Parts: sequence; structure tokens; C-alpha cells
Amino acid sequence: MISLALNGGSSRALNVLCLGCHSDDIEIGCGGTILRLAEQYPRSTFHWVVLSAIGVRKAEAQRAARMFVDSGNLRRLLLKGFRDGFMPFAGAEVKDVFEELKEKISPDVIFTHSRKDVHQDHRLVAELTWNTFRNHFILEYEIPKYDGDLGQPNVFVPLSAQTCRKKVRYIMKAFQSQHAKAWFRQETFLSMMRLRGMECNSPSDYAEAFYCRKLVL
Ligand SMILES: [Zn+2]
Repeated sequence: MISLALNGGSSRALNVLCLGCHSDDIEIGCGGTILRLAEQYPRSTFHWVVLSAIGVRKAEAQRAARMFVDSGNLRRLLLKGFRDGFMPFAGAEVKDVFEELKEKISPDVIFTHSRKDVHQDHRLVAELTWNTFRNHFILEYEIPKYDGDLGQPNVFVPLSAQTCRKKVRYIMKAFQSQHAKAWFRQETFLSMMRLRGMECNSPSDYAEAFYCRKLVL
């Protein structure tokens, strides 16, 4: 189990696993924290896994991952072709992806979906994350959505306003296919970080927030 000191020495090389169901989930949920980690721990290694990245969404996922993490630090970019919305019905195949990952990496920190996310794909990936990685530090990120499932996260990562703007700029630039969706707006992403910043007294006013279900000190 890891002691992750965000304010600790920058010489440490973190091994980070980012899990997302769909292209843009990782970036929306924890993109600011990834930018901060990459800056603060420049020797870190990132493993980036998107389970449903098909066609233009695959190209967008590739582009975004490389915007958020320098190619030298991006050790693994795994883009799978599971159908959006149908992952629970392909559970065995999705679990196979996790089992293969487990054999190859043992991350210091894992970013994944929230177990209480109302999107069925998101929830499955959250469950498989816990089911697969049994001795790891897991942070569950949040994705705003029409259904409304935001809760009370208990881990906050303050982010500079500059980092937040960069996150939102990258998201809007990388995921052009999503611009037609009414919720996919700069204001949505900035508002989330502004509210979480308020809840943790962030000096910059902004933060991302996570659920930590288990922490070993
Ligand atoms: Zn998603």
C-alpha cells in the first residue's frame, strides 16, 4: 500500500493507472489531478486504459491522452472496443482486460469510476477495479451527468486556476465529437472544480474531488 504525498519530493516516480469506460471519462474525472501529478512528479509513469474507444472516439482518446501526459511518460495506452452502454453484458471480456492488467502492472495509485455512478458501464469498471486490485490505493472520480448522481466526495486535490483552464481547454479541443451534447460545456467542467474547490478551501478556489473507500496508513 502506498503513501501518496502530493506535496512530497518530486524525485519520486509514481506509477499511475487511469481507467475510464469511454473516451473523455478520465480527462473529465481526473484530468486536472493528472496534469498536477505529471508536473509535480515528472518521472512518473502513466498507464491509460479506455474500454470503449471506437472510430472517431478512439482517435480522440489517443489525442487527449497525449495532451495530458507527455509521450515519454505514457507507458501504456490501451484502447478497447467495447460497446458504449453494454459493458455489463460483456462482463467476462471486460474482466479479462483487468486480469491481464493485473499481471503487468502494480500501480501506486489507480483512478477509476465511482462505485455509485449511475451509468452501468462506469459502475462495472469501478467494481472490477476493486475486484482486481486488492492491495492498491484507489481513488474514484466523478462524472457529471443528466441523471444526477453527484455525492459527497472525501478526497480533494486543489488545482491552480491555470491547471483547470488547461484541463478544460484540452477536453474541448480533443473531444470535438461531443460538442453537440448539451452538457459538454466548459462551464460544466469549471463549475464542478469550482464547487469542489469551495468545499476544500482551495487557495486557488478550484479542486477535483474523489471517493476513497479504503486507506491503509
Ligand atoms: Zn463514461
